[in-house]
Amino acid sequence: MSNRFAKPEVQAVGAYHLRPHVTPIRLHMNENAAGFPDDLKAEVWRRVSQRDWARYPDFYLREITQRLADHAGVPYEWVMVGNGSNEILQMTLLTTVGRGDHVVVPLPTFTLYKLQATVMGATVHTPLMQPTTNFALPIDEMVWLAREYRAKAVVICTPNNPTGTAYSEAEIRQVVENVDGLVMVDEAYREFHDQDLIHLAREYDNVILFRTFSKALAMAGVRVGYCVARPELVQEIMKVRLPYALNILSETTTLVALDHPDYFRETIQTACCERDRLLAALVALPGVHPYPSAANFILAHFEVGSPTVFQHLLADGILIRDVSSYPGLKDHLRISVGLPPENDAVLASLTRLLVK
Ligand code: PMP
Repeated sequence: MSNRFAKPEVQAVGAYHLRPHVTPIRLHMNENAAGFPDDLKAEVWRRVSQRDWARYPDFYLREITQRLADHAGVPYEWVMVGNGSNEILQMTLLTTVGRGDHVVVPLPTFTLYKLQATVMGATVHTPLMQPTTNFALPIDEMVWLAREYRAKAVVICTPNNPTGTAYSEAEIRQVVENVDGLVMVDEAYREFHDQDLIHLAREYDNVILFRTFSKALAMAGVRVGYCVARPELVQEIMKVRLPYALNILSETTTLVALDHPDYFRETIQTACCERDRLLAALVALPGVHPYPSAANFILAHFEVGSPTVFQHLLADGILIRDVSSYPGLKDHLRISVGLPPENDAVLASLTRLLVK
């Protein structure tokens, strides 16, 4: 159903939506299963209650921006913070892409890139990454499309959601060096792969990195993300950001999290170990073909068909992500890495279904 007040570009896209199932085990959003620690929450309450809630936060968000810059290892002017990386991604597209422009987004990947670029009025070119090559980046095709259409932006997600594929610095560099447009690198799952692409942002003026506190840093409900790019670009994106972009609760939680990197290091390590254990166990199940993952989730193909597996897990109180409608991912499902007992429950449920 369309509405005459909505722009044709908005009418043309389907909404990004999630199934509203309520289950005891929730492995569909790639969150940090260990949660945000109670003692740090207490520290957040203490600090937030000392602030003046009746006043707007600092207009320039100086403290948090400086801390994020220190954390990333770049000067203050290279960073912009916002309510989650999605929002900053949208602001970046709003700043750089308009009606009639072209954008390159290799698929399958996070749905939002294409949706938002389309809403901005761009034509989105979508070279396919193939399961047969473990979803390797189609560099030649991306470069060709970007040059042919003078693309304003090229999006790369590494490690990629939902495939879990990490792209090497050399691969990304090949794209960056051969296109004129802005290369938007979404590093939402970077902590699970231990790759730092910050020097790409330092080296090239057509690179912007997006980072989030929603995944490894257990703050999806708090909504904080930031970008790193050359100051000239950050300045332009700042014009698009609304004033007082971050509320004091989000800001304080981020500062507390940055004060306690050790806690998160440990949970990230645990998540990576659990990922590898889950992957090995999935490989051993009949008719399951998981792909290697550098993130906190695993993509797998199921010979019995994704609807059967999805419904079976759901009946056992486990919600995972149905990505079978993504290009090239028929009968594929994505499982977020949970706590050890949650992963055990997934494996037990799949064993009941698949091992006769
Ligand atoms: N980028 C990717 C690749 C994601 O998978 C997600 C969450 N699904 C996000 C960004 C969203 O991040 P945020 O919560 O910071 O908006």
